Amino acid sequence: MFPEFTLRYARLPERFFERFDPVSVPAPRLVAFNRPLAEALGFDLDAFDEARAAEWFSGNVLPAGAEPVAQAYAGHQFGHFNPRLGDGRAVLLGEVADRDGRLRDIQLKGAGMTPFSRGADGRSPLGPVLREYLVSEAMHRLGVPTTRALAAVTTGERVFRRVPEPGAVLTRVASSHLRVGTFQYFAARDDGEAVRILADLAIERHYPHLLSLEEGERYLALLEAVAGRQAALVAKWMGLGFIHGVMNTDNCAISGETIDYGPCAFMEAYSPTTVFSSIDEQGRYAYRNQPWLAQWNLARLAETLLPLIDADQERAIERATAVLEAFEPRYEAEWLAVFRAKLGLVQEEEGDRELAEALLEAMEAGGADFTLAFRRLSEAVEEAEAVEEEEAPALLELFEYDSALRDWLPRWRERLAREGVGSEAIAARMNAVNPLYIPRNHQVERMIAAAAEQDDFGPFEALREVLADPFTEQPGREAYAEPAPATEKVFRTFC
Ligand code: AMP
Ligand code: MG
Ligand code: MG
Repeated sequence: MFPEFTLRYARLPERFFERFDPVSVPAPRLVAFNRPLAEALGFDLDAFDEARAAEWFSGNVLPAGAEPVAQAYAGHQFGHFNPRLGDGRAVLLGEVADRDGRLRDIQLKGAGMTPFSRGADGRSPLGPVLREYLVSEAMHRLGVPTTRALAAVTTGERVFRRVPEPGAVLTRVASSHLRVGTFQYFAARDDGEAVRILADLAIERHYPHLLSLEEGERYLALLEAVAGRQAALVAKWMGLGFIHGVMNTDNCAISGETIDYGPCAFMEAYSPTTVFSSIDEQGRYAYRNQPWLAQWNLARLAETLLPLIDADQERAIERATAVLEAFEPRYEAEWLAVFRAKLGLVQEEEGDRELAEALLEAMEAGGADFTLAFRRLSEAVEEAEAVEEEEAPALLELFEYDSALRDWLPRWRERLAREGVGSEAIAARMNAVNPLYIPRNHQVERMIAAAAEQDDFGPFEALREVLADPFTEQPGREAYAEPAPATEKVFRTFC
């Protein structure tokens, strides 16, 4: 069933990883499988057998040609450097070429204690596995670069966190698992040769167009390319109210994909200081800080690349600094592009940023749900015709205080008029970028409770279906679009 593995990473020098066979589990059961993704990866599904798949995706049986390794990496966790993190509970089976010929990592997460486990158990509880499965797939459908979820199995073991929970393994698919922290691992050991090998691998896998550059330009261009992808990525997060929660350098992918769904969450009422993660006590990774943390992470990547950027280190620093400084305008441009689209704008005008910011301020003042406020904005493209007819009631109802919004709407309509397109076309393009359905935290919590406590995967399946088509109204599924009722509001997430 498995496509052929390439072993690009496992063929790197031995110091890049620890060889490690997944620790077998007593009773593997396949609880989720992503058929469309499997097809895109070239799996032969004619021969699909659930029990067999459970053996593979639990790590009990290795697919032919796999050479499992735990990858070495370091990382800044909440600003503090740890020179040796590595895959403490994950194992890379190898890479496969997808239908488009691109290599994709196949990784089992929760596969047992590795040489990098540092005293932890190497396992994953079912809840976080299902959360990552659901949220990463939702992000993909929302148009955000992300790692994907191929399968989830329960193991038949209990995992002890705050309470005992069923254990599970997630099969994660990624363009690669190269992280800023991978570069830091070798830079911290003064292993310039390894940094160069990594940089070349990153270019080969993610930025092959840079291969034509001369060596003196190539590695600065790599930094620039990674910065560009991160700027675009974080702008997309901001446009969805997504809060990653743990933007440590080991969770910052060189590919520009969102990676490591831990205590991540979507904001409901718009507030830029929102933090969910229980471990983020200082609010370092709050919604509004995300772009600047991405830039901070890129600075850590830049430090590792300095020796490759220029033999003259003063000049290397100057050149890298210029790239890092360019991140800000680059990110601001990406942000503006995202929010222009959310407002139904295609033309570019001077005052657009201010217009978008004014709406966000109105949302904050009114305590409006971020996702629904943008979604329902399309209902207000046109002014209500009769005086008796209340304008955009579904939108206004989201605002506890709506005076700022009422002031803003005519400004926006005036701006829309200059787009030179009919209101229906504008509403249609807004609804194609402003989702109706996102993984609402309380829905995710309910889904986890049902699966982990009742062995009921119905809510998981239902959410998965809704989130597969986030921009289309799905009759009968109105409840999935609603913010949490007061009694179910989620303020803290745990990973
Ligand atoms: P994360 O916070 O998920 O980015 O993980 C940070 C580090 O902790 C990585 O090196 C992980 O491999 C490791 N880690 C997280 N959970 C576990 C666990 N249950 N067992 C072993 N290592 C873990
Ligand atoms: Mg991580
Ligand atoms: Mg994690």
